[in-house]
Amino acid sequence: MRVFITRRLHDFAIKELSKRYRVTIHHGEIPIPKKTLIEKIKDTDGLICFPYDKIDNDVLANAKKLRVISTYSVGYDHIDLQQAKKKNIKIGYTPEVLTNATADLTIGLIIDLMRRITEGDRLIRSGDWRQIFGAFDYVGQDMNGKTLGVFGMGRIGQAVAMRANAFGMNVSYYSRTRLAKSQEKKLKIKHVSFLNLLKNSDIITIHAPQNKQTEHLFNMKNFKKMKKSALIINTARGKIINQKDLISALKLKIISGAALDVFEKEPLCTSPLTKMQNVVLAPHIGSSSAQTRAEMARITMQNLVLGLQGKKMIYSVHL
Ligand code: NAP
Repeated sequence: MRVFITRRLHDFAIKELSKRYRVTIHHGEIPIPKKTLIEKIKDTDGLICFPYDKIDNDVLANAKKLRVISTYSVGYDHIDLQQAKKKNIKIGYTPEVLTNATADLTIGLIIDLMRRITEGDRLIRSGDWRQIFGAFDYVGQDMNGKTLGVFGMGRIGQAVAMRANAFGMNVSYYSRTRLAKSQEKKLKIKHVSFLNLLKNSDIITIHAPQNKQTEHLFNMKNFKKMKKSALIINTARGKIINQKDLISALKLKIISGAALDVFEKEPLCTSPLTKMQNVVLAPHIGSSSAQTRAEMARITMQNLVLGLQGKKMIYSVHL
């Protein structure tokens, strides 16, 4: 059987796959151009892909032999699930293993934005540090006592909530499915309506997947419902925020700041966001710790092997 991988992965995973299959790795332009992917997919039995590889209808239409897609991510919004289901293609993904890393980064971004760490770093590096320890110099915000509004209380949302509790924050959440009361009690979280989340949160952090309901949900109409002092954090998917509206909302001081790990179009090259002091930017590194990325490679590899063997994958997307 043939396995195609859209870019380099950990050696141990490639070695394991090469014992069983004819493995081809794409080494050229990243993300792989659609034309190349369509060409390669024709005689591929198993595909390993990444979140920015669009596995859409055009690609799947050419997948004559494809039986398994194993994505190196927890998000699977880049795969046409309906088409995959029609073609009886199984999909493996990597939840859980990246929950802690992504929750850590989220808290890091919240602290950074509230205490203006990156802003201060930019100030020093540009040689503009003048005031020393003045009562009003470079003041930020306390985390203790602030209301953190979590949008999407799944694995990562819950891990963020637990960490936020430790900082003395009050955690409210809105999610598609409400958690059991016992779980809410254990996590010290309060379920609120979406409107309430927008109106009363000091910081809103997004942990829902990108889907039809969430795409551009955070837009000007909803920014206007938020506190003027509110901050927004996104370590989920870029398209959940309408980026153009966010830029306007920040410029017009409708909300106060943003910390973003994901963008509508990645990589983010030129954008007004890069010029804003009240914005912290990260290059989509939510899951990017050495341990987590290696574990993701192991699961991605094992999902593919198990799927091609017709066995139950470690984690498969319910189609
Ligand atoms: P998860 O466990 O599936 O949690 C997602 C939560 O969002 C679930 O509680 C889900 O509710 C809720 N949800 C879904 N649609 C919603 C909607 N329309 N409105 C409100 N809530 C909704 O996923 P996870 O592991 O926490 O990951 C969350 C997302 O983070 C992933 O989809 C991925 O895109 C992103 N992510 C990014 C990075 C990064 O590198 N920045 C790393 C990891 C993950 P239900 O219970 O009803 O399904």
